[in-house]
Amino acid sequence: METYLQGTAEGKYNPDMPVDEQTEYLSYDANWEFPSNQLKFDIVLGQGAFGKVMRAEATGIDGTAGTSQVAVKMIKALLSELKVLIHIGQHLNILNLLGACTKDMHKGLLYVIVEYCRYGNLRNHLLRRRGNFVNTMDDDLKENSIVKHLLCYAFQIARGMEYLDSRKYIHRDLATRNILLGEDHVVKICDFGLAKDCYKYDNVYTKKSDTPVPVKWLAIESLTHKVYTTKSDVWAFGIVLWELFSLGGSPYPAMNIDETFITRIKNGYRMERPPQASESQYDIMRRCWAHSPDDRPTFTDLVEIIGNSLQTSVRQVGFLLTRTSC
Ligand code: AMP
Repeated sequence: METYLQGTAEGKYNPDMPVDEQTEYLSYDANWEFPSNQLKFDIVLGQGAFGKVMRAEATGIDGTAGTSQVAVKMIKALLSELKVLIHIGQHLNILNLLGACTKDMHKGLLYVIVEYCRYGNLRNHLLRRRGNFVNTMDDDLKENSIVKHLLCYAFQIARGMEYLDSRKYIHRDLATRNILLGEDHVVKICDFGLAKDCYKYDNVYTKKSDTPVPVKWLAIESLTHKVYTTKSDVWAFGIVLWELFSLGGSPYPAMNIDETFITRIKNGYRMERPPQASESQYDIMRRCWAHSPDDRPTFTDLVEIIGNSLQTSVRQVGFLLTRTSC
């Protein structure tokens, strides 16, 4: 168990390389250890590709004496995610680590305890709220307010990604299904350190169901050369903007994932402006989808661009932007 937790003896962590490519060199700080008998499991929150997520009550976690609601991820292959979370550190717009149960890891049992986000993932939330959004479309003030919420989500995601980039973390699977919504409209990016090569092209090429396929979030260079950088995350961020402004729509709705998909993207095909997005918001998406990674904005640029338009929108409805979470 110790060897898993401490990392390998040979070599050490390189701060200039993406974190998730060298998780074996990250160590586990035992301060995160939390006794599993102080967790009281409640309902299942979701079933991801790698295992389930349970809601639980934790007694005495995060410096508090009482109980708090937490989410517990329960899968065997979580060690890299745990170490990445520790390495990355805390930020309002990422799903923060609260503790871990590693004592029974030799029995194949590892719990990672993270913040609980009561509204679940952003995609489902948008789909659930779709009716409300659409019903208020005639009302100028409310429409502005909807745009404000979507922009506010976009702003926070850009902030979270800017932070991850500063920690040299390339997400590789940024999508609204991997962003959670907590209290006060705070959004949190999640799904770190997973075995990303589970998305083999063979599987996704042939997939024809309605479930969103990761390929649709991939940048040209990731599709053609399997190259992932912060700029391919920026491309995915553009798709996330499209998802937000289409209120949880599936990207490239009418297109199948086959060889022609990549050819069309390479030839310059891009999604149209979703109905809820303004021309300037669509322009941000298009910039994220620039053919050359160098022509795409950085996350810091995006924070500034979206922050400015958010302030304008907020002023229009008479609100003041006071917090990062809007
Ligand atoms: P994951 O395995 O991380 O992809 O999670 C699967 C699903 O469980 C997500 O899409 C969410 O709906 C739900 N979920 C995961 N983590 C949390 C959390 N911290 N709080 C609330 N719901 C969560």
